[in-house]
Amino acid sequence: MPIRQLPDTLINQIAAGEVVERPASVVKELVENALDAGARRVDIDLEEGGVRLIRIRDDGGGIAPEELPLAVSRHATSKIASLDDLEAVATLGFRGEALPSIASVSRFALTSRRAQDPHGASLQVEGGKVGEVAPKPHAVGTTVEVRELFYNVPARRKFLRAERTEMGHIEEWLRSLALARPDIELRVSHNGRPSRRYKADELESLSRLSETLGDEFARNALRVDHAAAGLRLQGWIAQPSYSRASADQQYVYVNGRSVRDRNIAHAVKMAYQDVLFHGRQPAYVLFLELDPTRVDVNVHPAKHEVRFRDTRLIHDFVYRTLHDALAETRAGALPNDAAAPSFATRTYPSVPSAWMPTQQSPLGLNVAEAPAAYAALYAAPAGTAAPAPSLPQSMPAADADGIPPLGFAIAQLHGIYILAENADGLIVVDMHAAHERIGYEKLKDAHDGIGLRAQPLLVPLALAVAEREADVAEREAATLAALGFDVTRSGPQSLSVRSIPALLSNAEPEALLRDVLADLREHGESRRVAAARDELLSTMACHGAVRANRRLTVPEMNALLREMEATERSGQCNHGRPTWARFSLNEIDRWFLRGR
Ligand code: ADP
Ligand code: MG
Repeated sequence: MPIRQLPDTLINQIAAGEVVERPASVVKELVENALDAGARRVDIDLEEGGVRLIRIRDDGGGIAPEELPLAVSRHATSKIASLDDLEAVATLGFRGEALPSIASVSRFALTSRRAQDPHGASLQVEGGKVGEVAPKPHAVGTTVEVRELFYNVPARRKFLRAERTEMGHIEEWLRSLALARPDIELRVSHNGRPSRRYKADELESLSRLSETLGDEFARNALRVDHAAAGLRLQGWIAQPSYSRASADQQYVYVNGRSVRDRNIAHAVKMAYQDVLFHGRQPAYVLFLELDPTRVDVNVHPAKHEVRFRDTRLIHDFVYRTLHDALAETRAGALPNDAAAPSFATRTYPSVPSAWMPTQQSPLGLNVAEAPAAYAALYAAPAGTAAPAPSLPQSMPAADADGIPPLGFAIAQLHGIYILAENADGLIVVDMHAAHERIGYEKLKDAHDGIGLRAQPLLVPLALAVAEREADVAEREAATLAALGFDVTRSGPQSLSVRSIPALLSNAEPEALLRDVLADLREHGESRRVAAARDELLSTMACHGAVRANRRLTVPEMNALLREMEATERSGQCNHGRPTWARFSLNEIDRWFLRGR
């Protein structure tokens, strides 16, 4: 076949292959156009999961009648005019290809009116063939109608799924939009019946959060808002005890654009690593904001992905922000509950020694008393005792002001739960779970202060690696040394390994180092060694924690409550289960129909 220039319609249909995957992608492109046009309200009418009809009507700025043909022609946009504009783009669209692509694979109509126009104007496109602009009554704003998607592309039509499935995709996308833009009213109808309505609300509104992700999420959400190095991360992360079996409540936005980003997802996962039960997924809605010139949004035709100029900085920033926020999830601190006493403003005395049965628990005590595996973690086992808890003379007085968040113990239930009374009502604590977390955090603290011991290899290990792995090893020698690896470069593609982390001396050193190098290359840090350490410490903490059926005295129980209040992440045990629950007097009154 000779080389020939393809006709415009075919070019648009080829582009549609990337931009228009299914009805949900059409809804996305059209609603994003409405938002770029300054709409405050968007009506979305659908039939048969969007396959038969998608009609999007907005109250935005509208399009000049003479520009209607341009709007549906390829590479025509009002949003950028130069490369500089592209590099700092603030609108959702900029490629000028959505309308022509959609119009080439559907029966399409565009109707619009600006405030200064006496009446509206409309333009029809049938499978890419553009008609004439004709007057048509319309309120200020724009309506785009897309009928019979893929009617002229049978191969594409075959890939459409059942109405329910397509509708599900549309709803999921709308949910992610609704989260990002609570200020916009969205009204959806399906097959002639209203199916969803998001009323406009304030930005950062909790009610939008519960509307989209459920009350449970909103109740368990921690508000995050942190800025540094020209980056801002704000949004909500769910407490670890509200975890999910699948990754279905993970929303990330970069400068307001919903994206999938492996780097950010990885940073979040690392931040949760220590507080989530194995295999569970965290839930979060996070908005990253940064100067638009620091992120390239033009890397994906449907703009599902972006590329950061400084991936590593972003990873670090997200990880640290969330890690610190999660560290605050100590027992007694309830983020979205004004009635709960504010923990942050008070300080509590530490633990009396009485509650800690020294003969069976090494937690927080002298390293020398610890099991062998514990001592093996330390660079210098002798004389490196973890600081012993300071011992208060007496518990705080139980006056109205001095009642601590978790209150004072009143009894133990079945050898498993501690019952305590606080200013609000009843607190129930799972004593094993709580003790386990406290022990674990102590082991980690003690361990962090000392560092990871290196285990020298009898014979240095020569390792053949790819050049870029060798580069990473050379560049990150200090990081590797802190983890216990002594690695030097012995050639363009070879490394010499003299020591590995003692903790992992049973691991295959070669595979371990390769994995760590891969982490360092991709994420700028490796949590592999720390994760293995955490797992070991966690197991030790579990064995050291008070077992069920052990009777505790009231002072012992009170000491455990005070320690919970003072320990990071004490709201969950090491396996992500909650350590305590609370029943307010109001709630208890309701059980007995009191005060009605
Ligand atoms: P892009 O959004 O990348 O510019 P589109 O093909 O989606 O490309 O839209 C082309 C142009 O049509 C936009 O740049 C805009 O000027 C105009 N347009 C599309 N939809 C609307 C709308 N709902 N309201 C106002 N103008 C619109
Ligand atoms: Mg667009």
